[in-house]
Amino acid sequence: MKSDLVIVYHRAPYEEVMEDGVIVLREHKSPNGIVPTLKALIGRIERAAWVAWKEAEDPAHPDFERVVDISDSFGTYAVSRLPLTAEQVRSFYHVTSKEAFWPILHGFKERYNYDPVDWPTFRAVNWAFAEAAAEEASDDAVVWVHDYNLWLVPGYLRQLKPSVRIAFFHHTPFPAPDMFNVLPWRREIVDSLLACDAVGFHVPRYAQNFMAVAHSLAGAHALQDAETDPRLASAGTALNEMFTPLALAVDGRTVRIDTNPVGVNFSYIEDLAAAPAVAEKVEAIRAGLDGAKLVLSVSRTDYTKGNVQQLEAFERLLKRRPDLLGQVRFMLVSVGANRGMSIYEDVQQRIEELTGRINGTFGSFEWQPVSLISTAIPLPELVAYYRAAHVAAITPLADGLNLVASEFCAAQGEDGAGVLILSEFAGASVLLEGAIPVNPFSNAHMDNALEQALAMPAAEAHGRMALLRASARRFTLQSWADATLDGFAALKASPVAAT
Ligand code: UDP
Repeated sequence: MKSDLVIVYHRAPYEEVMEDGVIVLREHKSPNGIVPTLKALIGRIERAAWVAWKEAEDPAHPDFERVVDISDSFGTYAVSRLPLTAEQVRSFYHVTSKEAFWPILHGFKERYNYDPVDWPTFRAVNWAFAEAAAEEASDDAVVWVHDYNLWLVPGYLRQLKPSVRIAFFHHTPFPAPDMFNVLPWRREIVDSLLACDAVGFHVPRYAQNFMAVAHSLAGAHALQDAETDPRLASAGTALNEMFTPLALAVDGRTVRIDTNPVGVNFSYIEDLAAAPAVAEKVEAIRAGLDGAKLVLSVSRTDYTKGNVQQLEAFERLLKRRPDLLGQVRFMLVSVGANRGMSIYEDVQQRIEELTGRINGTFGSFEWQPVSLISTAIPLPELVAYYRAAHVAAITPLADGLNLVASEFCAAQGEDGAGVLILSEFAGASVLLEGAIPVNPFSNAHMDNALEQALAMPAAEAHGRMALLRASARRFTLQSWADATLDGFAALKASPVAAT
């Protein structure tokens, strides 16, 4: 049976685990992350499908099941598994997406690596995703494509199945033309995105950058800013009263440019943080601190996340303020990258070196100023650390949104007085009010923010946290899902894009 919503995301919506010698497909245990976020919509659509890659040595093997039906707590849906060889995965994902696109999306020109890119493979993999999506989609389905590694899917899909509505969501920042146009495949990428009916971003700045990039590459297109079609504008209010969608008229049809930030499951995290088992863990963490204040940072290991700069700031703090020795600890959760991600190795090494240097210089037998955790902490435990922390330092150099900042606020609870230091370069900084804003490229800013956070009177910290929580509550997972579905309904009510 064909589906009315087809989600195209590179990762599968389940985990493969070995049980009694056979592989079973099991629902992810973790309630956070992109996969469960996208799955939040599945239960709300009668017939939904998901397209993901499956690394397969021999896709022609008779035991290989191309489409599987999955029933889990989110609903029942088909998963189309696109067999890719290990070499295809390496080329399209680890090389083209992570070595060429990722640095440019985040503004790191010096890390951009063009030479190993095999563009024909990138095209072929995107074509295969588009074919799989076209197979699963009903004639008037919405096909919802995610992230830069599938940038060429919309254009191919428009050729393969012109009747469907195509929506694309970027989970990363989107840079201004001076940065984006470094990519030699820029025109092909933008042409594909302009084949969409709607292109979505986390915050208005990325949407505006996309408009500027599209204008800079208009080429043969008749392209101009457009009034949002009234049928689509009504979705704008639902999308978010703060973010009216923009629109581009491209060769006489309209492409809606949405801003709709993904939120966290605020009440779920709040309830989790209030559970007795978590409260016990919080007590144990606080007892272990022995009166010291805890500064917490949580992220994947990635040069974009600014962990090296955080460690350097913490080292300067201890040098400047010997009175704080024994009085403050820094816990850095920096979750190591997946296998094959050599581009993150240097930052991981630098983090380990700095941690060793700080602990070696300032630590003692009883007291280690920095704790470095390199493996993922499950959400219930993480929430206990969020609650126990006095300060959360979320200071990426660039970050599409940053969910950890909102999770920290949700976990604090009504009486929370944790202080959030938040980089101006995290998308979340546009949404959250009450944080100490910081420019992580400035040592002085980082130093002042840490001092201010550690010295903040409880009443001020509590007031700021109340503001932060009120703002974080406005951008939840539920509001994101509602706005997404409203946006799809508005697309369905509008004429199909002509090719
Ligand atoms: N996370 C986790 N355990 C960890 C570290 C992170 O479960 O040890 C989760 C965290 O709760 C958040 C997600 O990973 O939901 C990270 O999302 P974010 O938007 O902050 O960063 P991204 O990794 O997507 O760039």
